[in-house]
Amino acid sequence: MQVWDLEMIYKSLIEKYRKNLAVSDKTPVISLHEGDTPLIPAVNLVKEFGFNGEIYFKFEGMNPTGSFKDRGMTLAVSKAVEAGSKAVICASTGNTSASAAAYAARAGIKCIVLIPEGKTALGKLSQAVIHGAEVLEIYGNFDDALNLVKELSCKYPLTLVNSVNSFRIEGQKTAAYEICENLHQSPDYQFIPVGNAGNITAYWKGYKDYNKTEPKKYALPKMMGFQAAGSAPIVEGHPIAEPETIAAAIRIGNPASWKAAEEARDASGGVIDKVTDEEILEAYRIVAVTEGIFCEPASASSIAGLIKYIRRGYFVNIEPVKVVCILTGHGLKDPNIAFVNAAKPRKVKTNISDIINVIGF
Ligand SMILES: *Cc1c(COP(=O)(O)O)cnc(C)c1O
Repeated sequence: MQVWDLEMIYKSLIEKYRKNLAVSDKTPVISLHEGDTPLIPAVNLVKEFGFNGEIYFKFEGMNPTGSFKDRGMTLAVSKAVEAGSKAVICASTGNTSASAAAYAARAGIKCIVLIPEGKTALGKLSQAVIHGAEVLEIYGNFDDALNLVKELSCKYPLTLVNSVNSFRIEGQKTAAYEICENLHQSPDYQFIPVGNAGNITAYWKGYKDYNKTEPKKYALPKMMGFQAAGSAPIVEGHPIAEPETIAAAIRIGNPASWKAAEEARDASGGVIDKVTDEEILEAYRIVAVTEGIFCEPASASSIAGLIKYIRRGYFVNIEPVKVVCILTGHGLKDPNIAFVNAAKPRKVKTNISDIINVIGF
C-alpha cells in the first residue's frame, strides 16, 4: 500500500483540525494516528443507577500511547521540530513521558524525562525506556520535577513539553471538538479528572471554540472536575506539599493550570470537587465490570465524581441530561492496581470435573 492510500484513510489530528491549530505548511506533522477516540454509551451504568439521561465515555486510553497526552504531544513535538529543537524535556507522573518519548522517537529527536522516584507505574515507565528516552528519577515529587524542567528549559536548548507549553493545550482541545461532532451537539455536563489541570483547561477551550460556530447547538457544558482527596489543592484552596493517592496521574500538589481550571469551573457553572481513593477504586471496578472498559485509576476519578453526584441527588428534578465522562488513560498502564483489586485466578487440577466444581455449573 502506498503512503498516500493511508493518508486517504487516516488524517492526523493536526491535518484534521489544521484551521484551529497554530500550524502552517512549514510545520512538519509528527503523528502516530492520535485522536478520533471512541465515545462509548454507558448503557449498563445508566440502568444500574436509574440515571435520567445519557452517559458517554470518551475513551482516551485508545490513543497510540494509551492516554490523551498524545493529542497535545503531536502538536508540541511538531512545533518543536519546526523551531529546530533537537531535544524535548518533561516532568511526568508517567503518561506525559510515555507520549513525549514516542513522539520524540518518531521525530528523531532526544527526549529527557524527570519522574518522581519509585512512583511511576511500570506500564508507563516501560514505554518511556523502550522509546529511548533518557529517564531520570529524582528524589522528589512531580511538582519538584516540574520546577526543575522549567528551569532547565530556560537555561538550555531543551523544549519543554509539559502542559505549560501552550501547544499541548491547543492539541488537547480537539477532544472537545470530537465530542461535539459525535453527539451533533455539546453535552450538558462533562466529568473529568484534574491533576495538573491542563486537560480541563483544554476541553473548556475546545467547547468555547465550537460554541462560537453555533451557540445554541453547542451550548457550553458544565465542567465537573475531580481531584483525588489526598491531592486536592484546588478544592482545599492551597498547594499540597505531599500529595498522596493511588491515582498516580493526578498526584499533583500545585497544578500548573490552577487559575485556568477555576476559570472553566466558574464560567461554566460547574464544580471542582474531590473523591477518595476508595471511591476511585469502586468506580474503576464498576466501569470494568458493568461496561467492559478498562481505564486507569486516575481516569476513574471522573466516574467516581459522577457516581457521587448521582447518589447525592444532583440530577434529580431536572430534564434528562447528556453527560460525558473523560476516561483519560488505559487500564493496562497500571495492571498491578487491577490485580490487587480483583479476584485472583484460581488453581484447578487438569480435569473437567474439578473445573465444573470450581465454576459451579
Ligand atoms: C495527565 C493525566 C491526567 C491529568 O490531566 P491534567 O491535564 O494534568 O489535569 C489524568 N489522567 C491521566 C490518565 C493522565 O495521564
